[in-house]
Amino acid sequence: MKRSLVLITFLAFLFWSFTAKNEKSTTNNMWGFFGHKKINRLAVFTLPPEMFSFYKEHIEFLTEHAVDPDKRRYATEGEAPRHYIDIDHYAHGGVDPFTVMPQKWNEAVEKYTEDTIQAYGIVPWHVQVMVGRLTKAFKDQNFDKILRYSAELGHYVGDACVPLHTTENYNGQMTGQRGIHGFWESRCVELFSEDYDFFVGTATYVEDLENFVWKRVRESHYAVDSVLNFERKLTTAYPTDRKYAYDNRGNRTIKTYSREFSKEYETMLDGMIERRMRTSVISLGSLWYTAWLNGGKPDLNKINQKDISEELKKEIEEENKAFEQGGNIKGRSHDH
Ligand SMILES: [Zn+2]
Repeated sequence: MKRSLVLITFLAFLFWSFTAKNEKSTTNNMWGFFGHKKINRLAVFTLPPEMFSFYKEHIEFLTEHAVDPDKRRYATEGEAPRHYIDIDHYAHGGVDPFTVMPQKWNEAVEKYTEDTIQAYGIVPWHVQVMVGRLTKAFKDQNFDKILRYSAELGHYVGDACVPLHTTENYNGQMTGQRGIHGFWESRCVELFSEDYDFFVGTATYVEDLENFVWKRVRESHYAVDSVLNFERKLTTAYPTDRKYAYDNRGNRTIKTYSREFSKEYETMLDGMIERRMRTSVISLGSLWYTAWLNGGKPDLNKINQKDISEELKKEIEEENKAFEQGGNIKGRSHDH
């Protein structure tokens, strides 16, 4: 009975989300803001009844703040590497990098030094750190932190599921394919995700967090070749004036990949972007659920409040200010 209620709510939400204006992307990076928000929002509908009403009540917060970690890259030293891992930096000549990179942080640092690990990205470890923080927030029954860490965990899980977040050639800059990062994770998602099937099932408990997270990164990385090769193949078949188009965004005209080119790319990828998004959604739901269980299954009705504290609001406002003022990303200034 409860299940079918969840399903109806989910359907209503789907209809709403696809017609809602406020999901129009305003940027051209990172699953696009559009994709990140959508993943966080959809993950709510994978949760068991004991968690669902709390998360549903705060779905706007979880959606809106799915992108805070990207904004924070402008204000916080050390934020940038949390969004990616250039795993292919560690192995060349056909060697599988996952056979040389230790999964455990201490072993990885010992093998490569912390400077190197930080320089080439730490997303698989940071997802685990965030699950730890969220677990503690549940243990402490800390309303602010439960919401904030839930939203932010979604961001890093989403990033870990994006193929181009796992390679040095993250924007095709090494192969003459500059722009492919935003093409795959923003342009295509915005154009086609309304047709994606987001019935991903119910969140399940993650027994082995370390392996779970590395598995996501491995799947992402093994898709990198297709992401790049299909675009290259298509580009040779397309004259530039058909590959690109001009789009009006507010009062600006931007050059972007044409619909026709994008559609053909999407067809060649054969559901890859949809699969990676679905994986992001169910992984996030399962990690929220796991943190809650490991945090002692607190009664969320008792923790629930109307709104986050003034203190947290202020903190978020400061980050937004730094983001809106622009300036340099602290760390590598690319689409990660
Ligand atoms: Zn990111």
